[in-house]
Amino acid sequence: MDLQIKSFEEYQRIYQYSVEKPEEFWAEIAEHFYWRRKWNKVLEWNFKEPNIKWFEGARLNITENCLDRHVYKLGDKPAIIWEPNDPNEAHRVLTYKQLLDKVEQFSNVLKNNGIRKGDRVCIYLPMVPELVIAVLACARIGAIHSVVFGGFSAQSIADRINDADCRLVITADGGFRGTKQIALKSIVDDALVQCKSVERVIVLTRTRTPVSMIKGRDVWWEDEIKKVETQGNPPCPAEEMNAEDLLFILYTSGSTGKPKGVVHTCAGYMVYTGYTFTNAFQYQPDEVYFCTADIGWITGHSYIIYGPLSQGATSLMFEGVPNWPDAGRLWDIVEKHKVNILYTAPTAIRSLMAAGDQYVEGKDLSTITKLGTVGEPINEEAWHWYDQKIGKGKAPIVDTWWQTETGGFLISPIAGVTPTVPGYAMLPLPGVQPILVDENGQEIEGNGVSGNLCIKYPWPGMIRTTYGDHERCRQTYFSVYENLYFTGDGCLRDENGYYRITGRVDDVLNVSGHRIGTAEVENAINMHSDVIESAVVGYPHPVKGQGIYAFVIASQHHTDEDLTRQDINQTVSRIIGAIAKPDKIQFVSGLPKTRSGKIMRRILRKIAEGDTSNLGDTTTLLDPAVVDEIKEGAEKLR
Ligand code: ATP
Ligand code: MG
Repeated sequence: MDLQIKSFEEYQRIYQYSVEKPEEFWAEIAEHFYWRRKWNKVLEWNFKEPNIKWFEGARLNITENCLDRHVYKLGDKPAIIWEPNDPNEAHRVLTYKQLLDKVEQFSNVLKNNGIRKGDRVCIYLPMVPELVIAVLACARIGAIHSVVFGGFSAQSIADRINDADCRLVITADGGFRGTKQIALKSIVDDALVQCKSVERVIVLTRTRTPVSMIKGRDVWWEDEIKKVETQGNPPCPAEEMNAEDLLFILYTSGSTGKPKGVVHTCAGYMVYTGYTFTNAFQYQPDEVYFCTADIGWITGHSYIIYGPLSQGATSLMFEGVPNWPDAGRLWDIVEKHKVNILYTAPTAIRSLMAAGDQYVEGKDLSTITKLGTVGEPINEEAWHWYDQKIGKGKAPIVDTWWQTETGGFLISPIAGVTPTVPGYAMLPLPGVQPILVDENGQEIEGNGVSGNLCIKYPWPGMIRTTYGDHERCRQTYFSVYENLYFTGDGCLRDENGYYRITGRVDDVLNVSGHRIGTAEVENAINMHSDVIESAVVGYPHPVKGQGIYAFVIASQHHTDEDLTRQDINQTVSRIIGAIAKPDKIQFVSGLPKTRSGKIMRRILRKIAEGDTSNLGDTTTLLDPAVVDEIKEGAEKLR
């Protein structure tokens, strides 16, 4: 069986096969990877404990699949193209051969610093090629990486280091993001006051920010590389790993509570990310693929590093932010590097759309063949803008639905193969068996229905445990409904059997007995011409059970706020119906978002309820100050 599916008819046939004979199906897919030794058993599982094992008995190293096996044929092909924050700084290209050399070199640095298979390593770096090198070097020697987004606070880092008992931290003096410089090493120093397990810190030079270097603990990246060079740059053969050995720990973004240390393992994750990458994006041999996510999120792990590299793709990584020096930066990058595939988040699309079309006009985007989105439901207006202005109406948009816990895409179009509908993730990929259930866990069959989205059969990239706390994994994902993986997302399956994610289950409102997804209401509000973005939550309502509270960012400052409120209500009425009209509309200048761009609705819910005494963990917020402003505004509205 070829890896890439080429027609809708073929998709249907393979999907059917993958459900009827999942083990045979995944074994055929796994044949496309390089194994030191093949598996004895494809799958062993129960969702009760849970206990999930894929490709038991197999031995491999994921970096041999991402690097070594490509070097013979694709040695001079760019593996990583790096675009710096400052457009005037030179970009960098690492070919597959060069990337392998650098990974081997840094693997030896890790070994020289006492790191062995199974040790946990925390990586807190800006978006520079050394981040990819560090991640792959850990994987090469069998150390377990825990990448922490280079914008988190000292407290967030300390919590993550302690949760995983990391022995080593890899960081930089600082990082550039737009006009800002972030003093990474100094933040690490603050974090380490609370971390007993860390013996060594490796510091990369990036911003030349002055840093304190503690003797016996802190060493420079560049000095350590020199040591390996004086040792004659010996190769570093990849450690042979068992299929289910831990590959990495990654903490979820925390939009629904305390972040969870999601664990992924070597073989299943490799097969799943490679398979879904090449299919969803229909990657062609010379295409340049650009994912704008940060490697601190699962999207960067699976679809900047592991998925693209295992498929021999050219993966472009960007150090900066989409709106600096201006809102045309992503389009400049597309033009400069002749990007073919662009993968970004609805939040970025909305903000670039709001900045105005002048930033897109005149940019050569003719190389684009495929587009993708991830992270949240995309509203129709943003979808059409993306389709028309960026894809020029001829690049399929893959709206990829997945989670940190799923490792890779579960429900997503296959570009140019399966149909697309704005706001829909469409159909499950082969091997994925979604079902909708009601509150009692009863399956809701047929089409034209909505419910809680669960998955009833394992897929290779799925979560194995939450680090150090298997019970939390069981409780969160496998105990809500018996024998099902519970996603926490609400979902609609339309008359055609197409799936649309309607938001978190907690975000489904019950207004006078009608179930309405917050995303649906937001979508309608956002259609109003003066609205940039909105967030909708429910609050207790004496008559309706739940009332609808909308937080709205408007593009112009209206002197008559009440009139705009009425206009918004009219818009929602027209699009969904009078039932979905917000009971309260509060204008705000920003929304509380996590660093990955997700709205922390639990905070808005508390504010809407009038209970602001305990807003819970807000350390993963991008801009905590916005919360106070919203609290004040809510008081006035009461
Ligand atoms: P936590 O689990 O700690 O609350 P999180 O869920 O925000 O954090 P992620 O794993 O990054 O962390 O996000 C996964 C969630 O993002 C999904 O459950 C879903 O709600 C949302 N999501 C991702 N992609 C899409 C998409 N294409 N359409 C709609 N929603 C999406
Ligand atoms: Mg989640």
